[in-house]
Amino acid sequence: MFDHSSYDSHEDVHLFQDAASGLKAIIAIHSTARGPAAGGTRMWNFVSGEAMLKDVLRLSQGMSYKNAMADIPLGGGKAVIWGNAKTDKSPALFRAFGRAVESLQGRYYTAEDVGIDVADMAIVRQETAYVAGLDQGEAASGDPSPVTARGVYLGIVETAKRALGSGDLTGRTIAVQGVGSVGGYTCDHLAKAGANLIITDIDQAALKAVADRTGARIVAPDEIYDVEADIFSPCALGAVINEKTLDRFKVKAIAGGANNQLVMPEMGELLRRKGILYAPDYVINGGGIINVAAEISGNYSSEWVDAKLARLVQTLGEVLDEALTSGQPTNAVADRIARARIAAAR
Ligand code: NAD
Repeated sequence: MFDHSSYDSHEDVHLFQDAASGLKAIIAIHSTARGPAAGGTRMWNFVSGEAMLKDVLRLSQGMSYKNAMADIPLGGGKAVIWGNAKTDKSPALFRAFGRAVESLQGRYYTAEDVGIDVADMAIVRQETAYVAGLDQGEAASGDPSPVTARGVYLGIVETAKRALGSGDLTGRTIAVQGVGSVGGYTCDHLAKAGANLIITDIDQAALKAVADRTGARIVAPDEIYDVEADIFSPCALGAVINEKTLDRFKVKAIAGGANNQLVMPEMGELLRRKGILYAPDYVINGGGIINVAAEISGNYSSEWVDAKLARLVQTLGEVLDEALTSGQPTNAVADRIARARIAAAR
């Protein structure tokens, strides 16, 4: 564990198993320096326990950095549940998971991530109060993905200003990978701004719904890396910027909502050399956690969320500008700022 390449000085990592419900979960707490750790729960059919551990470690570190960049009083953590989100869910499973969260006594707050919806979190809430992204209750903020998508859209505009010379997306082509919650709402914003969309997903129903609403052209999952477009927007899973995809991109920028887009940090420098401006994932996709932070505060305010989101978009612009001026990769600039903010809190 302590030698794991993604361990990065995590404060604690908890493994939970509940034989009665079939729950197998990991909750990783990267840092509580800036406040209680917060980050969503992902349900995924991992190929192995090792793959599951690696995912949760990378995701929780990403949450620390994301929460620091969004300048909210939260540390970073993440949870993963091993299973198929379409077939393995049960109330007993989510109650067992809720008890796991409760056992950490507020060191970790959870919410939705891939494979988990508001109804699941409502069951988790029956066992613990350390949960956000609910749609009922005084401070309930609901599904965070519309706010994430709003931030991704504004971040795409900010990135376009620098990579394409203008934030006007009229007639620009944007290739969106994954049209689930975040990708779907992002497509709506982009279509409204006049962009032409090329979309892909493995879920045919989601693809059809978004294509019907936005007029997007559909391509097969593997074709999305080769399309002629101005911007690639990854909004599905991580590690899609890797040795195999790098030379296929024909875009000027990459800006999307998915977590952990780079298979390894060095990809940031390789993108820079190719002249592709990369919006660091945990900066551009921080809208949802800002919404969650408002809920955790117990006093939800959409004005506070809007102000924090506007500041985050400005921070993204500052990261891109510093990277462009100094010749550093954008992810390295963001990492340095995030680490400094966490160290200052510590
Ligand atoms: P989601 O499950 O609603 O959507 C993900 C979509 O990606 C699904 O439609 C799925 O079918 C599709 N997909 C999976 N594998 C694919 C592949 N190989 N090719 C193409 N499409 C594929 O999840 P979401 O909440 O929209 O999250 C998407 C990404 O954004 C994740 O990386 C998540 O961690 C990140 N994220 C989400 C939020 C949020 O508020 N929900 C916030 C920050 C980051």
